Amino acid sequence: TEPEFTGPELAEPYLRQVLGTAGLAVEYVRAENNTLFRIGEDGAEIPVVDFAGGYGSVLLGHNHPAIVDRARELLAEGTPVHAQFSRHPYANRLASELNRIIHRELGTEEPYFAIFANTGAEAVEAAVKHAELDRGIRLAALQEELAVHRERAREAVASGTAAVTADVYARLGTDAPAPGDGFDALAAELTRRNAEQLAHPPLFLSLEGGFHGKLAASVQLTHNEAYRVPFKSLAAQARFVPRERPEALKEIYAQERRAVWDLTVSDGRVEITEHEFPVFCGFLVEPIQGEGGIHVLSAEFAGEIQRFCEAIDCPVIIDEIQSGLGRTGTLLASSQIGLRGDYYTLAKTLGGGIAKTSVMLVREARYRKEFEIVHSSTFAKDSFSCHIALKVLELLEADGGSAYRRAAERGEALRAVLDSVRADFPEVVKDVRGKGLMLGLEFHDHSGSSSTILREAATGGLFGYVLAGHLLHRHDIRTFPTASALSTLRFEPSLHLSDKEISQLDLGLRDICGILRDHAGERLMGA
Ligand code: PMP
Repeated sequence: TEPEFTGPELAEPYLRQVLGTAGLAVEYVRAENNTLFRIGEDGAEIPVVDFAGGYGSVLLGHNHPAIVDRARELLAEGTPVHAQFSRHPYANRLASELNRIIHRELGTEEPYFAIFANTGAEAVEAAVKHAELDRGIRLAALQEELAVHRERAREAVASGTAAVTADVYARLGTDAPAPGDGFDALAAELTRRNAEQLAHPPLFLSLEGGFHGKLAASVQLTHNEAYRVPFKSLAAQARFVPRERPEALKEIYAQERRAVWDLTVSDGRVEITEHEFPVFCGFLVEPIQGEGGIHVLSAEFAGEIQRFCEAIDCPVIIDEIQSGLGRTGTLLASSQIGLRGDYYTLAKTLGGGIAKTSVMLVREARYRKEFEIVHSSTFAKDSFSCHIALKVLELLEADGGSAYRRAAERGEALRAVLDSVRADFPEVVKDVRGKGLMLGLEFHDHSGSSSTILREAATGGLFGYVLAGHLLHRHDIRTFPTASALSTLRFEPSLHLSDKEISQLDLGLRDICGILRDHAGERLMGA
């Protein structure tokens, strides 16, 4: 074992302190299956049942033996981990295996091209960049078309086969120019107005409660204001669509749509027509919101989003970073609600709890090969993580997909316990949500509790963390609130989750619910 480190604390000491106030600044020394081990005061290992599941990255369990073996093998073989700018057959194999499964789930044969990255947020950033590259190419084509039309009209006016009439100016809301410079003045005015519109930055659509990462572009798509607002000036903005409110889509569209003027000639007259252009760059959706408090997108709202995006030609970017790779019983949680993406992002479980890898997939109809030349990362698409991800897919697909079935079955067993806790403590538990091994339990607001400890935890933003601290120290259970909804505890254990571990959680949650019901904050461990 490592000697104790006694130097200065420089790796996020403040965060450690904050965790410490909720009793969560413990050290884990080992991990296997569904268990993390910490060292107790007597020096012995204390097993902790892990319901946080590496924030969704260890669906297959900590240090899954087949993945560890594969990692050992790869290193022993001297796999060319960093062989950038070469052929990458392992990346191709991985992309094609992902395609095979996705095609099966979506019932389509359209290829999805793969851009590999290292983290979830990075895959989202790649999607954002690709969507903007695509939008830029479409905008350039539109500008080209406008220029061709303008020149055609100019020639028609010059040759006397068409004239600019006063109603054109009426439509623009300006006075007709002096006779003689009619067409040039009109063309200049339209070019000026169009340039103003076209310079408008791209707009993303995202759902209220959505979480898509914390890098410069992706954090602007993440609803949580604390994460997003300080960095607002760094990247394109999103409009946040309220969940399950289809009518909001039309309202936002009406407010945000933009158009340019096109010049055409018809029946000897120059006419101007409005032409919409792609201001909406992408619509990001999680089929199940993770950090926003475990909210399941309904098939109905998914359908509304799909139709809306089709109508306005806005790509649908489905973020399956947390929900994907088997957690809800299918590779893509979105395939269960009939939602089809132009883009997908996958990460977390893709690395099998060992590698750090992610991928952004784009369907052929939207794919811009130019992207491959302008986007890359030193670490992405490396042999090690591609081979590990291939092993992950092999484990998910083995035995006719028994891992998917297990995720669904274990999820139901876990959900039954959460539901029964809710039924027994309706005054404490507000809701239980989720699908498969992606579940959440929301507590009622306790900011009005007669217990000072509970009231302060609730108003200070530490409510879920204080409960998590109690579960850890009293019940050897590890979980956390979701990042943006602090009254919701997350349950995203691995496939190894046993009935015994579910009972352990049952006991722990009932203890907590009793404390909350009795306003007995002083009974919380560490309080
Ligand atoms: N998207 C979703 C849906 C996520 O849940 C997360 C991480 N919680 C991310 C993006 C960002 O992933 P990462 O932390 O690897 O950057």
